[in-house]
Amino acid sequence: MGRGEQIAPEEGEVILRATAERFSGPLRRPAPVVVEKRVAVRLTPPSLQLLSSQHYVRQGGAGLVVARIGETAIRSGVVAGEEEFLSYPVPGAAESERLTLFGVPWNVADPSRVRLFAEDDAGNRSELAFIDLLAASPPRRDTIDLPDSFLERVVPAIESRTPTLTGKGPLIERYLEINGPLRAQNRQRIAELSRDSRQDFLWKGAFLQLPNSQVRARYAETRTYRYQGRAVDTQTHLGLDVASLARAEAPAPNDGRVVYAEYLGIYGNVVVLDHGFGLLSLNAHLSSIDVAVGQDVIKGETIGRSGATGLAGGDHLHLGIFVQGTAVDPVQWIDAKWIRDNIGTKIRLP
Ligand SMILES: [Zn+2]
Repeated sequence: MGRGEQIAPEEGEVILRATAERFSGPLRRPAPVVVEKRVAVRLTPPSLQLLSSQHYVRQGGAGLVVARIGETAIRSGVVAGEEEFLSYPVPGAAESERLTLFGVPWNVADPSRVRLFAEDDAGNRSELAFIDLLAASPPRRDTIDLPDSFLERVVPAIESRTPTLTGKGPLIERYLEINGPLRAQNRQRIAELSRDSRQDFLWKGAFLQLPNSQVRARYAETRTYRYQGRAVDTQTHLGLDVASLARAEAPAPNDGRVVYAEYLGIYGNVVVLDHGFGLLSLNAHLSSIDVAVGQDVIKGETIGRSGATGLAGGDHLHLGIFVQGTAVDPVQWIDAKWIRDNIGTKIRLP
C-alpha cells in the first residue's frame, strides 16, 4: 500500500491519493495503481436553530419539532434514547427548514436524552436539547399465564406461516422463540416499511378507534409471562387492544396508503398504512384483509375484519402507531385535541 498526503488542519478541500505498487513478474513491471479522492475538510458542525416552541412530551408519546439546519448538514433529525428520527423538508418552505416527527420510546424518561442533531459529511455533529417537559408515564405491569391450550392454538399456526421457525423442541421453547426474537424481527420489518414513507401529511384529524369497542389492553404494559407457575419471559405491549364483536369491520384509522397487507408473525394478518412523514399505523390480528399494497384508503373505509391471528388470546384489534419504526401510544393520535395542541401548533396541517 502507498502513501497518503497529510491532511492540513484547516477547512477547504484536500485530495487523498493512495498508491499501490503492483507485483512485478519476471517479464514486466506494471505501473502502480493510483486512486485519488477529493474530500471536503470541515471542522465546524452544521448550525441548528430551533423554530418551533413548547415541546411538551411524555414517555411513549410523540411530538413534532421544526428547525433550521445549516446547509452543510447531510443528515438531521431527532435522537431519543437509542432511536433516531430523520427530518423532512417543511412543505412549501426553504430547503433548510426541516420538520421531524419523533417518538419518545416508552422507556426514556430523561428529557436530555431527546435532542435535535445535524451532521455533515465529515462527521461533525451538532446537538440541541429542545424538550420543555417530559412527563413520566412508566409502564403498567401485568402477568399473563400461558396454558398449554393457548400454546397449542397459537404456536403451530404462527410456525406454519413463518419459514424461519423450525417447529422443533418443547412447545414452551417454541413459544419463547416467537414471543422474543420473532417479535423483534416483526418490529424491524415495520421500521423498514417506514423508510419509504411519503413526504406529506396524508392524514387528517383524529385517528379512529374500532367503533363500539372496549379497550382490552393499553400501550406500555410490561407483561411477565408465566408457564406452569414460573416466570419465563417479559415483554412490553406497545399498542392499543380493542374488541367489539367477532369479525368486526376494521376501519382505516386515517387516510393513508397500504404498504403491507399480509401475515406478519406475532401480529397475524395485518394491514400497515403509511400516513406520511414516517407515521405508520399497524392494524393487527385480522381474520381477513380487504385491501392490497399500493391502495390509497380513506379514514373509516373497511380494511379487513378483526380476528385472533398471530399471538392473540381472542378476537380483537391491535392498533399500533409507529413513528419511523418506534411504537408510540395510539391514545394521543385518537385524541383530536392532542393533535391540535401538539402537532397543529408546530406546523400547518392540511
Ligand atoms: Zn395488542
